[in-house]
Amino acid sequence: MTRFKRSRQRDRIMSLLCSTKSHPTAAWIYETLKPEMPDLSLGTVYRNLKILAFQGKLQVLHSGSGFDRFDGDTRPHYHLLCTRCGAVEDVDLPVQTELEQKAKALLGQRISGHRLDFFGLCASCASEQSHGKN
Ligand SMILES: [Zn+2]
Ligand SMILES: [Zn+2]
Repeated sequence: MTRFKRSRQRDRIMSLLCSTKSHPTAAWIYETLKPEMPDLSLGTVYRNLKILAFQGKLQVLHSGSGFDRFDGDTRPHYHLLCTRCGAVEDVDLPVQTELEQKAKALLGQRISGHRLDFFGLCASCASEQSHGKN
């Protein structure tokens, strides 16, 4: 297994990711850390996120369009993707092991896990809508 030298920037990226539930993009991480780390570049942020993903310390949420988002919570859990503003929220639903068993029954041990995304409105878009805007 490749070993990576610890880096202060990477540690800081990780602690920022663990302190937020917003599933940020690399650009957001860069903009948030830039004031305290003037030598930080967006390329460094991407490189460190890649290493952290490789080490299993974060989850990458690939979006078909738009930018990947990053989640410091590596336990299996589900997400709600806001169709209006692109925000990502955690969905507090038990992991559906039954669904995974069904897939295994169909495809065998090739299955090692699953991911499930819901689509709809995030809490803030939903409250805006119920307050009559739009
Ligand atoms: Zn939204
Ligand atoms: Zn999450």
